[in-house]
Amino acid sequence: STQESLRRGALIAIEGLDRAGKSTQCALLLDHLQKEGLSAKLQKFPGQMINSYLQNTSNLDDRAIHLLFSANRWEASEGLLTTLKSGTSILLDRYIYSGIVFSAAKPAMPIPNPHPLSTTWCRNPDVGLPRPDIVIFLNISQEDAAKRAGFGDERYEKPEMQEKVRGLFEELREDERDSGDWWVVDAGKSVGEVAEEVWKGVQEGLRRVKERGLDIRSI
Ligand code: ADP
Ligand code: MG
Repeated sequence: STQESLRRGALIAIEGLDRAGKSTQCALLLDHLQKEGLSAKLQKFPGQMINSYLQNTSNLDDRAIHLLFSANRWEASEGLLTTLKSGTSILLDRYIYSGIVFSAAKPAMPIPNPHPLSTTWCRNPDVGLPRPDIVIFLNISQEDAAKRAGFGDERYEKPEMQEKVRGLFEELREDERDSGDWWVVDAGKSVGEVAEEVWKGVQEGLRRVKERGLDIRSI
């Protein structure tokens, strides 16, 4: 079986704008992998630690919150490696890529430092984290995302912010073009159609894991 031919689990990141369908696709994917006899689990970022911030109930300096997001991933990283080595694949519902672009998209605040966060600054705390075998990017326009249920609840879900995030994701994909890590899916289609394209990305991810063997790369 596929599971037996894998020496470790695959690390699969699902990324995209708010309401692109990440959580929907992660749930379907987990189910699909398990039906194929593959061991898999879900890891959602951010964790509980910063949820109150996202729900607008507390305020923190942009740099402090960025480092908390990164710390949240570092806190989980040892567990990720252990799980992968045990042969279980992991679906990451958001990862460093969201971390970078959402922080860099924030408007600069006059105090304590009037400069927006650069993507380089934002990436630095994540250097050394486990690198996904594939990043599945759910690509959707800001307008299509906004039509979906529940939009506008959280502090980042404003049209200007989402447009900025979309542009920064595009730059990031361009910067990482040569890595071949990104698998872009048109997320404006139906749930079933998107799931089919996501599955193709997962197959590609599993193929890479067979090639890479036990080697887990770093950011
Ligand atoms: P995310 O995790 O990326 O923020 P969700 O998976 O929570 O997105 O989906 C946001 C909303 O859009 C949910 O109400 C979900 O049912 C709906 N949705 C997800 N995928 C699609 C799709 N392909 N077409 C239409 N609606 C969708
Ligand atoms: Mg979600």
